[in-house]
Amino acid sequence: MMTSEAQRLAYLDALGIDVFSPRADDGAASPETASDVLQRHREIETIDWPELESVVASCTLCGLHCTRTRTVFGVGYRAADWMIIGEAPGAEEDRRGEPFVGRAGKLLDEMLRALGLDRDKVFIANILKCRPPGNRDPAAVEADACRAYLDRQIELVQPRLILAVGRIAAQKLLNSDQTVGRLRGKVHSLGQPAIPVVVTYHPAYLLRSPQQKREAWKDLCLARDAMGVPS
Ligand code: SF4
Repeated sequence: MMTSEAQRLAYLDALGIDVFSPRADDGAASPETASDVLQRHREIETIDWPELESVVASCTLCGLHCTRTRTVFGVGYRAADWMIIGEAPGAEEDRRGEPFVGRAGKLLDEMLRALGLDRDKVFIANILKCRPPGNRDPAAVEADACRAYLDRQIELVQPRLILAVGRIAAQKLLNSDQTVGRLRGKVHSLGQPAIPVVVTYHPAYLLRSPQQKREAWKDLCLARDAMGVPS
């Protein structure tokens, strides 16, 4: 027989409402200390794809490991010219372990196709590999803990261009607190040697504000042109 708590969770699940509660199998684990995080980041700097994937899958560097269903490592071509970076997994991504699925993912696919790109020709990743409960914004400590994974992915892919999708991705990647509106329309750069970075709207926002699709198309054209910018 279900406990009342189990019933509550089952009802909420049936209604599609997400619940913030620790998973039973790893509820005893707690986020690691700052020196653990630092040590882990040093190790991540040199690891290859299989090891990176495995380390992310079992990561407990921040508290989000308590509430995730699965980590969302990233998908696509690991030597892609284009790298698409979003914010964090949502509910569907958390269930499936893949970034940008559902309606927003379909729109991203359409945007890529308009440029002659398929999903399997780009590499898609997020700032965070685990879902923040209720789709809240990532906390700074979570983004900092997770950043080494993304940095290593960028180093391994060596993209010719990064498309930062949405406010959080843009702000975290560019270490800026400016709005998407201010960050759009120019070519930024990341790292050394510099990789061009172009900022655009998140497809979930474009679903709510379809009138902005024309602006997003301008961003994609800017990104395509930026591929010719010497790094
Ligand atoms: Fe680890 Fe990143 Fe998940 Fe935090 S969000 S537990 S740092 S993989």
